[in-house]
Amino acid sequence: METKYIFVTGGVVSSLGKGIISASIAKLLQARGFRITIQKYDPYINIDPGTLNPYEHGECYVTIDGQETDLDLGHYERFTDIKTTRANNITTGRIYQNVMEKERRGDYLGKTIQVVPHITDEIKRNIRLLGNTGEFDFVITEIGGTVGDIEGLPFLEAIRQLKWEMKERAICVHLTYVPYIAAAGELKTKPTQHSVNNLQSLGIQPDILVLRAEHELPRSLMDKVAAFCNVEKTCVVQSPDQASIYEVPIKMQQQRLDTAILDKFGMEAQHAFVANMDAWMDFLNRRAKATKTVAIALVGKYDLQDAYKSIHEALSHAATYNDCCAKICFVNSEFITEENVCEKLQNYQGIVICPGFGQRGIEGKIIAARYAREHDVPALGICLGMQMMVIEYARMVLGWQDANSREMDGETTHNVIDLMEEQKHITKMGGTMRLGGYECVLSKDSKAYSAYQTEHITERHRHRYEFNNQFRADFEAHGMKCSGINPENNLVEVVEVPSHRWYIGVQYHPEYSSTVLHPHPLFMDFIREIKAVE
Ligand code: GLN
Repeated sequence: METKYIFVTGGVVSSLGKGIISASIAKLLQARGFRITIQKYDPYINIDPGTLNPYEHGECYVTIDGQETDLDLGHYERFTDIKTTRANNITTGRIYQNVMEKERRGDYLGKTIQVVPHITDEIKRNIRLLGNTGEFDFVITEIGGTVGDIEGLPFLEAIRQLKWEMKERAICVHLTYVPYIAAAGELKTKPTQHSVNNLQSLGIQPDILVLRAEHELPRSLMDKVAAFCNVEKTCVVQSPDQASIYEVPIKMQQQRLDTAILDKFGMEAQHAFVANMDAWMDFLNRRAKATKTVAIALVGKYDLQDAYKSIHEALSHAATYNDCCAKICFVNSEFITEENVCEKLQNYQGIVICPGFGQRGIEGKIIAARYAREHDVPALGICLGMQMMVIEYARMVLGWQDANSREMDGETTHNVIDLMEEQKHITKMGGTMRLGGYECVLSKDSKAYSAYQTEHITERHRHRYEFNNQFRADFEAHGMKCSGINPENNLVEVVEVPSHRWYIGVQYHPEYSSTVLHPHPLFMDFIREIKAVE
């Protein structure tokens, strides 16, 4: 079948959850047996979100091929179990970079380079790239931002052209917001009408409308929206707030959103299957039945819900498959001191020491690592978190008071975490870390191995510094085991303290590869251990 394109746009306000709706559409089509992929276009000028502060943009999600991307790609992978790549996230910056490189090469043969057609053509070329591989029945393209943003205009113009060129092979799903005005006691459709008008004025007629709201909307309101916006009644669905984002695909299925989409492509009649969401429903049912709660502290410095998104989700998947519910609380490492650490962490059965960059909050992470180690609380250190576990061990067990990472102290003689050799001459910031999937071999007699149940693993990375092998023998002689090693360059990937209940630090980011149907083995083992004792 020829590839079909679904464009997902948003109106009225941002943060409506376009990523979740896009992922839900992908999931439902996939559950009908179609081959799908999702891509995200971000209308900002950064080449990728790698250099963005998490306060600006939330977590940076890393693909297996080493692209730093938008956190929505995390949702795509968690919903569909399909690995995304650098082709799945494109920014305005990347589009312009490509166009300017072509201009310098002389590819445009003396033409004046303009937003239309050169930028829009480059957007169209990128949108088509995934479809042209022949690997997908549907390519779902989410456009970041809100209709009406100046930055988004070239993307919408590209969609208008593609819809025109592809005719019945492309549709637009538009997500809007229906506010409830408490003082008047009324739900308001006007913002939706305006936003659809806005799209129409740009030459795009939405085919399907998804109305976001805080509460259930009456059918009569949806029919009114259908009539005002030139959309069929069956093509207006609602997405009220749910207890969890994982309810959304089911809510969409109940309203036959997948059927409406196939119908728009003229495929419904030929497609007798219904989306098989049995495994997904098992996950939701298990989640609903979980009665036991495990309290987990996320020790980090970014006091922002989205900054540790994938860690949050990975813990929550693992808790569900361990038949419990994870109560995950952020504990700001900046305010952890020797004096208050007990008080701050004593109510948690597990501690995650989070990734991060720079000086702020690292001493608190080191104190938290010490607390977990000395009180035998299960602890998982991720990337910078693992590095802090190593520094804590060096200071307290090996007795090297000045132990540190070269990132924080360039002078120390005990630079137990050091800059990677390959990083020493790099001066550019963007896209220059160790990024993406690297192999690791686990020692058979380790806790990490018993979690993974396999010797060879591949996990995603995003860091510049690493365990300094010069000190490896000292650590091992004092009870910290280097249980995971990169077979190519001998770098330490996993450390653990075998005498402790569960104390594991990983240089990589296991959280990126946990999905709803395949929770990550390390998180599974972590929660299993927490649960075993409670
Ligand atoms: N700042 C550390 C490094 O660059 C850790 C990075 C991270 O936690 N992702 O090595």
